[in-house]
Formats: sequence, structure tokens, C-alpha cells
Amino acid sequence: MPGSLKTEGIVLRGIRYGEADRVLHLYTPERGRVSAIAKGVRRAKSRFGGRLEPFFRLNLVLYQGRSDLLTVTSAETIAGHPRLREHGPALDGAARACDAVGRMFADGEPHRGVFNLLCNQLALLDAQPARATPGNALAFRLKLLLAAGFAPQLAACAGCGEADHLVGFSGAAGGVVCSACEASSFALSQDAHDFLVAALGRPLAETPDASAPALAQAERAILATLEHHAHLRLHPVM
Ligand SMILES: [Zn+2]
Repeated sequence: MPGSLKTEGIVLRGIRYGEADRVLHLYTPERGRVSAIAKGVRRAKSRFGGRLEPFFRLNLVLYQGRSDLLTVTSAETIAGHPRLREHGPALDGAARACDAVGRMFADGEPHRGVFNLLCNQLALLDAQPARATPGNALAFRLKLLLAAGFAPQLAACAGCGEADHLVGFSGAAGGVVCSACEASSFALSQDAHDFLVAALGRPLAETPDASAPALAQAERAILATLEHHAHLRLHPVM
């Protein structure tokens, strides 16, 4: 039914619409991804100023009429993240994070953990742009899988429960696999396994370092998990 919705939201992307409007994809804590139109936002004297740009975290009032498309009636900045915009890798990391959230979760599929994770990632990239490493991008995706309930099993073989001789990873099995269960898996080195465990277990700001080959294997594990559970392909980081 028609009415106003007060919510926090992060702008994932904006799409030009008509002469002066923009349709925004927002991620909100209680509603998940929503789409909202910001009327007149591309005019020089828009009351929204430059606030309705990707990566802004905002306090919003959204009007809900009869259609699925909400209308932005007010927007106050909580965090604009200006520093990450001046640092290429941090900007790229922020864009990847917003893209992954927008593609992984459909409209009306709320996960407060995803909202908090995205807030943390943008704040980290803004405060410490040098943290925008491939390891950070992979750790973010891994935590996104956890928030969505798709975290891969890493402690024991996903096929038989064996805790030793874990040599491979299988998206179909749902995690690491032992030498007896390795059919349809690909090799996962100890370094790659260690990275996955540490990246999942530590805060984003403490993402561990790993060699490029280990990160490439970790990425393959993340992509296989995403593809198996969400039928989703994300652009590779490595
Ligand atoms: Zn096994």
C-alpha cells in the first residue's frame, strides 16, 4: 500500500532515465535490494546535490506508490567515501563489491549481514585505499557467500568428512575434498586453503596475504561455489 519508507541505503548503481532522472539500485538493511527513481537529479540545481552517486551511504525517505519502483523524496549523507574515489584500485574494489551484492541478491531479499559487510568494505577502502588488493576483493566475496548461507565447507572433506589429505575443491560437493573424493574437483594447495580459512575467519581489514597462485586457486573455489549455488558468474579478480 502507498506510503513512505525511512531507511538507510547504499547506492549500488545509477542508470540515466529520461531527461534529468536517474534510477538507482539501492541496498537496504530491511528490504534488501530496491530500485528507486530520483527525479531531476541530473539537473545542476537538484536538491539532492551529488549525493545519489554509487558508494554513498545515505539516510533515505522513499515513497512507495503502486509500482515496484520507489521514489526518492529525501536523502542525507551518512558517508560519501570521497577518498576511495581518488584511488583507482579502491574505486575498482568498491565497484566490484557493489556489483557482486547487486547481482547476488534479488529485489526483496534482505540480509542485514550483507548490508553491514558492504558498509564495512566501503569504509575500509575509503579509510585505507591501499587495502584494495585482490586478497581483499576475494575475502569480501567469501564473506558474501557466508552471509548468503553458501559458505564453502573448509574444515573437513565435503564428500566424506575426512579431516586429512584435503587436496581439492569441488563446488558441487560444497567445499574442500580429500584424495578419495577428488573426482570433479580441482587441486587446492595448502596455501590457498589457508587463505580461504583466514579470509573467512578474520575481519576484512585483516585479510591475509597470499601468493598469486594461491589467490588464483582461492578465486576458483569462490567462483565454483557461486556458480553452483547461485548460478552466477562474477568477473574474475585475478
Ligand atoms: Zn572425502
